[in-house]
Amino acid sequence: MTVPIADLAPFFGLRPAPSATRPRDPRPGISGLTPDEAVAWAGEHGLPAYRARQVLDAVWRGRQASFGEVRTLPAAVRDQLEEAFRFDTAGEAEVRLADGGLTEKGVHRLSDGLLVESVLMHYPARTESRERHSLCVSSQAGCAVGCPFCATGELGMERDLETAEIVDQVRHAQRRLAADGRHLTHVVFMGMGEPLMNLDRVLGAIEALRDPARFGLGARHITVSTSGVVPGIRRLTALAPQITLAISLHAARNALRDVLVPLNRRWPVEEVVAAAREYAAATGRRVTYELTMIDAINDTDADADALAELLRGDLAHVNLIPMNQVAHTPWTGSPLPVVERFADRLRAAGVATTIRFNRGTEVGAACGQLAAEHAGRPAPAVVQRRRERIVAQSAAALRGERSQEPAPEPAGGEEGS
Ligand code: SAH
Ligand code: SF4
Repeated sequence: MTVPIADLAPFFGLRPAPSATRPRDPRPGISGLTPDEAVAWAGEHGLPAYRARQVLDAVWRGRQASFGEVRTLPAAVRDQLEEAFRFDTAGEAEVRLADGGLTEKGVHRLSDGLLVESVLMHYPARTESRERHSLCVSSQAGCAVGCPFCATGELGMERDLETAEIVDQVRHAQRRLAADGRHLTHVVFMGMGEPLMNLDRVLGAIEALRDPARFGLGARHITVSTSGVVPGIRRLTALAPQITLAISLHAARNALRDVLVPLNRRWPVEEVVAAAREYAAATGRRVTYELTMIDAINDTDADADALAELLRGDLAHVNLIPMNQVAHTPWTGSPLPVVERFADRLRAAGVATTIRFNRGTEVGAACGQLAAEHAGRPAPAVVQRRRERIVAQSAAALRGERSQEPAPEPAGGEEGS
């Protein structure tokens, strides 16, 4: 028996082989089809249009897990569908619970063997808000941006996900919820990958999620988080969907942000904030700024003041999230009193600020922190070298020196422009 190299990779501390060398199922995912495409497919196969409607109903509303279970369709049609499409492109290999059942991490195996993760978070009803069920989805396997505090960044880039591979994470969560008579209320693009570097597929997924004939989720219940791909933000602005835009800012000063978000070397912080401002103006929607708080790195009074200066008067909201420990960095999350002091300073300057905590940390399910365990464990010497490099870079950044290293290149060449 041959064991695929991808399965052995973790034992040798290797990254899995690039996807170009891995065979993929050539059949598209059925959930990537628009209603018009479904009708066209039915027509081409001599089927009446209502068959397309039945297929979409099964895909988006049914509890079935395969074409074979869709009993509203004749067996011959089920066979035709099976030959042309995949019912599920993000098979759930495993579901792990955390936070006393309030967080569920789903591990999805794609047809080429790559693993991506989604996180379902339950928020019980409170006096001021109804029950919420929010899914954090992955948009890429790996990520090219390489933020040093992020487990996905450490993986490097594997490949973009297809639209179907994104929405199938949502269909899995919805099927699990529906089994208990519940519904998914929110989707956030904060899992693995940089959504604005796979913008066409992400827009396809948003369209499917919003379409009342498919998933039917309100645009205001969808959040896209970006590390600052300016052409992608501009493209979103032109479309002006009512989705929430979240910017992973982490630092207001360029020297430090060059290190924390390497993409800053291409699109510096003022350009990112200017593009986000245009999005807020075009949509009337408040932009969210995320700051992962790292002890003694980006949590000083000077950082708070620089951020307040940058965002003063903006339609914005800041979320402060203490960093979750990841093995390959020497850093730790900021202590709570430091985060509170930072928040107070921002609020005093008139910037709306909330302190948040990542869910699911005990199963490696924190948003943006996914797939750590699948990356394989690098040799201790490699970890040590990486840590030393991060320390040297951040020491230079804290002295105000900007990085001379080039900005990361998006793998597929798409920058959302
Ligand atoms: N690539 C996009 C979306 C995925 S990352 C982006 O960067 O915005 C989602 C969020 O998780 C980002 O705000 C990221 O900064 C955060 N994150 C990543 N690693 C983290 C860690 N170790 N602790 C806390 N937050 C982290
Ligand atoms: Fe990529 Fe976001 Fe992680 Fe940065 S934080 S490496 S952009 S997934």
